[in-house]
Amino acid sequence: MATAHIIGAGVAGLAAAVEMSKAQFRVVVHEQSGQAGGRCRSFHDNTLGCTIDNGNHLLLSGNKSALSYLDTIGAGDQLIGPENAEFPFVDLKTAERWSIELDRGSMPWWILNKDRRVPGTRLSEYLSGLKLLSAGNRTVKQLFAGQGQLYERFWDPFTVAVINTSADLAAARLLTPVIRETLARGADFSRPLIARHGLSTTFVTPAIDWLKKRGSEIRFNDRVSGISMNEQRVVSIQTGTGPEPIGNGDVVVVAVPAWMVKSLIADVSAPDRFVPIVNVHFRVENARMPLMKKPLLGMLNSLSQWLFVRDDVASVTISAGDEAASRDSEDILDTVWREIAPEIGQPVDKRPARARVIKERRATFLGTPEQLEKRPSPSTKWPNLVLCGDWVDNGLPSTIEGSIRSGQTAAQQVAHLFAS
Ligand SMILES: Cc1cc2nc3c(=O)[nH]c(=O)nc-3n(C[C@H](O)[C@H](O)[C@H](O)COP(=O)(O)OP(=O)(O)OC[C@H]3O[C@@H](n4cnc5c(N)ncnc54)[C@H](O)[C@@H]3O)c2cc1C
Repeated sequence: MATAHIIGAGVAGLAAAVEMSKAQFRVVVHEQSGQAGGRCRSFHDNTLGCTIDNGNHLLLSGNKSALSYLDTIGAGDQLIGPENAEFPFVDLKTAERWSIELDRGSMPWWILNKDRRVPGTRLSEYLSGLKLLSAGNRTVKQLFAGQGQLYERFWDPFTVAVINTSADLAAARLLTPVIRETLARGADFSRPLIARHGLSTTFVTPAIDWLKKRGSEIRFNDRVSGISMNEQRVVSIQTGTGPEPIGNGDVVVVAVPAWMVKSLIADVSAPDRFVPIVNVHFRVENARMPLMKKPLLGMLNSLSQWLFVRDDVASVTISAGDEAASRDSEDILDTVWREIAPEIGQPVDKRPARARVIKERRATFLGTPEQLEKRPSPSTKWPNLVLCGDWVDNGLPSTIEGSIRSGQTAAQQVAHLFAS
């Protein structure tokens, strides 16, 4: 039986491992750390006294690659969300509140109704969304700024949430496939979803269990430090326990982050600028959200961008977080608590003692047109070596959906070439 060596056990590597196992390869996963999940994982936090995710992760019900992966590993029921595709917002500067609620089916009837549109926006602004089809190398700002409130109240926050890059820098064309696969297909494909009991319980542990049941080996604390090739193919990898020969029908899937790949393959092209995401968590007794109908709130003109409530933890996401990551954590806690306390029915002057700021410095690559040019395709000049990860060209921004799709695509590609 041919062996597939997967280097890296983030969601891209796990998705690739699952595909290779389905394609009847013996699978060995090499993960440098003591746990799987990479940038999509949960851990026990002593300050909060509970398990939290390294960052709030939002998916949409049209994320077909992530959903098919979860179905395969038996975790299809681990994502939860409201029945409708409804996104409540509050603007802290004007105190205005509104909700975007999508219709079922692909006709966006809601934009014809002034009362269902974002306050202050005109129908013509929505129609200009068609410009995405010919975005070329333009940024979101170049495409949509100067058109009114829809830029400030939709395109800008949507871009920051989806691409983790401010709208003045972000490549508009990265939004196109996201919108095509979700919002443009209506409510059934646009419902917000979060991991019911956390990221690891949803995306990671069931995958490891599934792989082990099929005889796969998961080697933790096993850093791969080198890959040796000849003209034709990869011949060995240097693992934590020594060199591992790569036989004739064997394959190697590299699923490490962009900033690691050059230590394994010298001349590969990869994005080289990264953006932080800051998450702020408060352990709140009896969290209530009297003004919100859903456990998710978009916030504008505030440091806080998205407020999530799961059980008794209120968490805030700050994406495109260069400025936030440079701030002192106490300052972030104070500011964010003042902003969210009224939304969850808590006194502003009683900031919970159990609170935590997590700054993920390299959460995603910077989604500019220049950085997109650096994304490589999954295949390499060695047929038995493929690449996957959120940074490999998969058409999508740096997301769980992009990572999983990338892992699935790379694996299917190499499995097809090497099928016995
Ligand atoms: C705070 C935060 C919030 C986010 N929010 C969202 C969101 O709301 N929605 C969404 O869809 N996405 C979100 N993302 C993005 C998403 O988490 C990432 O795109 C995705 O997890 C990347 O997965 P990956 O497998 O490509 O890479 P990684 O998760 O980085 O996995 C790579 C793995 O390779 C291992 N590795 C590295 N080098 C070696 C080596 N030499 N040998 C062996 N192993 C190695 C690493 O330890 C790691 O486990 C967020 C990310 C962060 C950090």
